[in-house]
Amino acid sequence: MPPLPPTDTLFRRIEERRDDLVALTQDLIRIPTVNPPGDVYTDCAKLIGRRLAARGFQVEYVRAVGAAGDSDRYPRTNVVARIEGARPGPCVHFNGHIDVVPPGQGWTVDPFGGEVRDGRVYGRGACDMKGGIAASIVAVEALLDEGLLTAGALEISGTVDEESGGYGGVGHLATLGYFSRPRVDHVIIPEPLNVDRVCIGHRGVWWAEIETKGRVAHGSMPFLGNCAVRHMGAVLHRIEEDLIPRLAGKRTAMPVVPEGARQSTININAIHGGQREDHDGLPSPMVPDRCRMVIDRRYLIEEDPEAVRGEIVGILEGLRASRPGFDYDLREVLAFLPTMTDADAPVVRAVAGAIETVLGRPAERVVSPGTYDQKHVVRVGHLKDCIAYGPGILDLAHQPDEYVGIDDMEQSAKVMALATLELLRG
Ligand SMILES: [Zn+2]
Repeated sequence: MPPLPPTDTLFRRIEERRDDLVALTQDLIRIPTVNPPGDVYTDCAKLIGRRLAARGFQVEYVRAVGAAGDSDRYPRTNVVARIEGARPGPCVHFNGHIDVVPPGQGWTVDPFGGEVRDGRVYGRGACDMKGGIAASIVAVEALLDEGLLTAGALEISGTVDEESGGYGGVGHLATLGYFSRPRVDHVIIPEPLNVDRVCIGHRGVWWAEIETKGRVAHGSMPFLGNCAVRHMGAVLHRIEEDLIPRLAGKRTAMPVVPEGARQSTININAIHGGQREDHDGLPSPMVPDRCRMVIDRRYLIEEDPEAVRGEIVGILEGLRASRPGFDYDLREVLAFLPTMTDADAPVVRAVAGAIETVLGRPAERVVSPGTYDQKHVVRVGHLKDCIAYGPGILDLAHQPDEYVGIDDMEQSAKVMALATLELLRG
C-alpha cells in the first residue's frame, strides 16, 4: 500500500487522542480559575507547563507582579512554552486565557466537575475557553508526534485576566516582547467563535462613568436643593432620544456577529443615585446630591475614538449650557481601539483553508462584538497576523451549563494542526 498523505496520518493521530483531549479539558475545568479574584491561576499554568515540558518545550512562568489584582494570595501567573524545529522558520503561537468568569446561578451540573454527557464536556470555561486550549495542545502534540516540526517554532501560552481586560496576561507579556517579531509570526487565540468561523477582530470599547452633581436638601422642599438624579434623567433622555437612534444608523463594513452588533451600540451598565438601599430601615427624605452612571459604548473601525468620546461630552456640555444647576464629572474607565486583521492575511488564509478541508464547507470570516486579547497582540506587540479560532459556541460563553462539543474540539484540533503546518511551511 502507498503511504498515506501526511494530513491523513495527522488527522488519524488526533482522532486517536480523542480521550486524551477530553481528559485534558476536564483537568483544566476542574481547576476553578475564577476571575475575579483570580483563583488558583498558578495551578492551571503549571498543569499546562508540566505537560508541555514533558514534550520537550522550554517552559517559562511569568508573573505579572503589580498588575491589577496581583498579590501573593492571587498571583497573576502566566505560562509560555516554546519548542524549536531543527531549522529556523516562522513561529506559530497559540494563546488561551486560563481565567473563567464566576459560575453564577442556574447550573444543573457541577460547574467545576467536567462532566461528560451526550458528546459534550460541561463546566465553567468548557467553551470559553479551556476546550480551545486543550484542542490547541493536542493539535500541536500531534504535529510533534508526526515529526512535522522540521523548521520554525511552536509556542503555547496560558494567560490570565482576559475576562478583566488582559492587562496581567497577554497585555503584560506583550509589553515584554512575547507577542512581537522576530519571536512570533502568527497568533491563533482559540476563543469560542464556532468551529467553522475565523474571527479577524473586534469592535472598540469605551467605558466611562458620568457623575451628575447637585445639592442636598429636605425631601419635602426639593426646590431648596438641586436633584442630581433628575439631572441624570436629562442625560438619559438625550441618550435615548438623540444618541441611540444616531448609533443605530452607524453601520459597519466589519462582518460583526451577531447581526445586531453590526452597528454602534451603547449599554447603560449601572446607575446609582441617592441613599444606599442595603439596609432594612425606611429611607429619610433627602434630595440626592450625587448620581453616577457607567456607560459601555462599543464602536466601529470606521469611527474616530475621539468622536465617540465627543458625542457624550457634547450631550453633557449641551446640558450644562441649557439646564439650570447642571454640573458633571466624566471619568474614563476603560478604552480599547477596534482591531481587524486583513481578511487575506496568512493566518486567516491558512485557518480558513484548513476549515474547508476538515469540515468540507467554506469558512466564515467574522468580527467579535466584544473584545478579547487580540487588542494587546496588535496594539502592544504590533503583530497584525492574529485571529481567534476555537471550538466553543459563542452564545454559550458565560452561561450556566456551559459546554464544549467533543466532535467540535476534535475537528478544531485538526483545523489548528493543518493550519499550523501550512504556516510553518511559510
Ligand atoms: Zn474568552
